[in-house]
Amino acid sequence: MIILDTVTASSNFIRNIVSDDVNSGKVSQVVTRFPPEPNGYLHIGHAKSICLNFELADEFGGTTNLRFDDTNPLKEDTEYVEAIKLDVQWLGFNWDNLCFASDYFAQMYKKAELLIKKGKAYVCDLSAEQMRSMRGTLTEAGKESPYRDRSIEENLDLFDRMRKGEFPDGAKVLRAKIDMSSPNLNMRDPVLYRISHAEHHRTGGAWCIYPMYDFAHPLEDAIEGVTHSICTLEFADHRPLYDWVVSECEMEHQPKQYEFARLNLTNTVMSKRKLKELVDKQIVDGWDDPRMPTVSGLRRKGYTPEAIRNFAREIGVAKNHSIVDERMLEHFVREDLKLRALRTMAVTAPLRVVITNYPEGKTEWLEAENNAENEEMGSRQIPFSRVIYIERDDFMETPPSKYFRLFPGNEVRLKHAYFIRCHDVIKNDAGEIVELHCTYDPETKSGSGFTGRKVKGTIHWVDASQAIPAEFRLYEPLVDDEGEEDSESFLDRINPNSLVVTQGFVEPGMASAKPNDKFQFFRHGYFNVDPKLTGDRLVFNRVVPLKSSFEV
Ligand code: ATP
Ligand code: MG
Repeated sequence: MIILDTVTASSNFIRNIVSDDVNSGKVSQVVTRFPPEPNGYLHIGHAKSICLNFELADEFGGTTNLRFDDTNPLKEDTEYVEAIKLDVQWLGFNWDNLCFASDYFAQMYKKAELLIKKGKAYVCDLSAEQMRSMRGTLTEAGKESPYRDRSIEENLDLFDRMRKGEFPDGAKVLRAKIDMSSPNLNMRDPVLYRISHAEHHRTGGAWCIYPMYDFAHPLEDAIEGVTHSICTLEFADHRPLYDWVVSECEMEHQPKQYEFARLNLTNTVMSKRKLKELVDKQIVDGWDDPRMPTVSGLRRKGYTPEAIRNFAREIGVAKNHSIVDERMLEHFVREDLKLRALRTMAVTAPLRVVITNYPEGKTEWLEAENNAENEEMGSRQIPFSRVIYIERDDFMETPPSKYFRLFPGNEVRLKHAYFIRCHDVIKNDAGEIVELHCTYDPETKSGSGFTGRKVKGTIHWVDASQAIPAEFRLYEPLVDDEGEEDSESFLDRINPNSLVVTQGFVEPGMASAKPNDKFQFFRHGYFNVDPKLTGDRLVFNRVVPLKSSFEV
């Protein structure tokens, strides 16, 4: 695996295929689909596939279906259907048709009967275990099932009785009759239908047999007139079977499957099964926990649809497996918020500072620009008075050399305000620092053109009398890539510091902040007002710190 950590000219070989098909007249109307199974919430890998399918169709004046591949009732649920619809819309896409594989169950059943009548499918009584052991290997042909030569009449009768519910789960399957010695294992009489007496979230108890992915998917694509059926690389070996199903079922429309490399990110697990495990074991606080790589988690953390779409577009579409550095994703959200997020001050771990030469009871209002890189955002007024809070980290009693922030005797600039100098450190009985005493120099007011002397450090602050209490949630990767590569043991790699919660203060103007409003807090990074934790306090999720060691 290579780690992709720079944006290469975003190549997209699938786009070239579509473009050729359109230009040569082979395809007149492009139709794509995004086909999630509603067995979990969407993650950033799905977002990549969504962008690819919708943007390709858009570019060539085509259409895109959102199709739920709901062929496995045990794992699927309406909750997931609704969450997926919301995520696709939030990403900025509108489907042309909303489709469900379950709407085609009757048609699929007819096609299975057609295969039986053509001698291309048979009912098999072998157990899953027996089938596996007779399947052979890459170097060894498989063994034919003893049920392979049942008559067409017997097969039709048994298949009908499977459907009627006469047999328990696992007693029988319908298999394609292809070639047990095919070099492609997928062609060795694959299972087309299985029995499952389960309640389906849409069809209820109407069916007790369900089509397998390899049978259902090509039929769904053909029924919907999909021209370019884009899936991930692990299905490349299934393509001959896909084509076999379309052709043997005598489908009028013949879709074509194309495969691209699935998106993987560093420090991230990306499979619904694992994400569900994190939710079920309550390691995270639901599918939309801001530490999750789900679309809903990223949204709650503060990602914008634009950032995700730009990321998906810029990383391109690859034919080979690769891992994308998660910092690339962060880069795109920073780029997106840079010019539009209000830049304000927040103190995430407060230390009280008394400015001893500032008059008691006085408050002055200072001008602060809203975004130094975007003048159009204007400015605001912030209060300044005798008691302020600064960041605990911005003071050291015995600093190392090259420490330019506050320490006894040193002078720093308060952003948008004055120079202050520390002269006293107040401690409690336990010896902990509880307060600093400083003096300010009225000559040094920000914007006054003061040039008398320079200071090396600028720190942020909020006015203690008017600041609003706030909670800050700082995130680190949920899983650590270091150590065991084994995908099964990802629970051992959970980062115990993935969430750090602190209590502090924000400027009074933030009283009007709404859920999902986004800000840049001076020196801390970009933050989003948590849309769920909306009790009596403002909760801010850190979307991303200001800078990483990495920029593209
Ligand atoms: P997972 O393996 O995470 O459970 P899945 O492939 O089973 O995902 P589906 O609901 O079947 O999930 O996927 C819907 C579509 O999203 C498929 O076309 C699939 O190829 C695509 N997809 C899933 N994961 C990724 C990924 N990491 N990168 C790109 N596309 C993906
Ligand atoms: Mg799947």
